[in-house]
Amino acid sequence: MTLQLSERVRALGAQAERGLTEQFSRIDAIAAENTERVLAAFQKHRVAESYFAGTTGYGYDDMGRDQLDAIYADLFGTEDALVRIGFVNGTHAISCALFGALKPGDTLVSAVGAPYDTLLGVIGVTDKGPGSLREYGIGYRQVDVTADDRPDVEGIRAAVAEPGVKAVLIQRSRGYATRASLSVDEIKALCTAVRQVRPEVHILVDNCYGEFVETREPTHVGADLVVGSLIKNPGGGLAPTGGYIAGRRDLVEAAAMRLTTPGIGRECGSTLGNNRLLYQGLFLAPHTVAQAVKTAVFGAKLMELLGYRADPASDAVRHDIIQMIHFGEPEKVKRFCRGIQKGAPVDSYVTPEPWDMPGYDCQVIMAAGAFIQGASIELSADAPMREPYTVYLQGGLTYESGKAGVLLAVEELLKGE
Ligand SMILES: *Cc1c(COP(=O)(O)O)cnc(C)c1O
Repeated sequence: MTLQLSERVRALGAQAERGLTEQFSRIDAIAAENTERVLAAFQKHRVAESYFAGTTGYGYDDMGRDQLDAIYADLFGTEDALVRIGFVNGTHAISCALFGALKPGDTLVSAVGAPYDTLLGVIGVTDKGPGSLREYGIGYRQVDVTADDRPDVEGIRAAVAEPGVKAVLIQRSRGYATRASLSVDEIKALCTAVRQVRPEVHILVDNCYGEFVETREPTHVGADLVVGSLIKNPGGGLAPTGGYIAGRRDLVEAAAMRLTTPGIGRECGSTLGNNRLLYQGLFLAPHTVAQAVKTAVFGAKLMELLGYRADPASDAVRHDIIQMIHFGEPEKVKRFCRGIQKGAPVDSYVTPEPWDMPGYDCQVIMAAGAFIQGASIELSADAPMREPYTVYLQGGLTYESGKAGVLLAVEELLKGE
């Protein structure tokens, strides 16, 4: 038994791989350093079997949960952290962080264009849906990226100088935008620019897809808070659900009051036997992220060989696990996604179709066959069905399976030619 791959596609794959030695050793070196950081944090906090027992009911005195908070805080270089399966997704964690950091009359500034699609509803950018920041009287300003897709540093300075600005949101990854993802160094420069104008403003970073891609995180270079999803990078493919927040203690505490209730905050929240998966996932995360980054780089190289434009290019230094491939037309997008689906370990027999996904303003096609529903640290491809018909490819629990998925996608694509 082998996968249905033609000699032509296998040969293209081998050719792509030959050109990636340097990239792969760079990625391995980052994984090695991050693995050491994780191990050292586990050792410092004396991780033991007893941490995995977990709690039920209210979840008081969950030692494993509370020690994991401390481990995340160490890894992100912060005073405090909150790692919880009670966050239903990354959007929920970011929402709690924003509601914690902002009060009626305050203004939020999004520093690098529109935030991730699902946050538009949280902020109330496009409508006055019930419960949004806007409904609570919290203002919003957005600084768009420049014509060449770079952060508009002068625009950001001007925006945060306005009265009432209390928090700045920086999104590390591109999400469904076409701008480049930000490096940790670029985030440092933005933090410095904001601080020069308004030292007291809270700087929140949507860290989704960025964790462990570099050896430092935004909170190491001036951000007050990072937020992300456990079914992406830091869950290592094992965390079954959840999110995390790491940063300044007052901001973490305020977010905890939003996650549960004022007065209870972080004291409640049973872990229901999931602590082991969160620990083991974090332990694997630096390696798993490296597998995903290698899959992305391989996908970029292969598509370049076929004459498509990959962004970032296959030789670019990576800042997140996302790979954009520009197809320019809907049919090729569907073919590529169908092939990715065929490579999945779960649901490989289904055919992905564009659908009206909640929180998005156009149809979206999503190819994924994951062990954990929607986990985009597992190989997945999605594309908003709108110009310029770009596929966002991400994940890959192992490089070998990620590579197989990409090869099957190319096989499907070439059938259409
Ligand atoms: C995934 C993601 C989120 C959160 O999405 P969820 O599906 O709610 O976990 C937010 N911002 C970015 C940039 C993301 O990639």
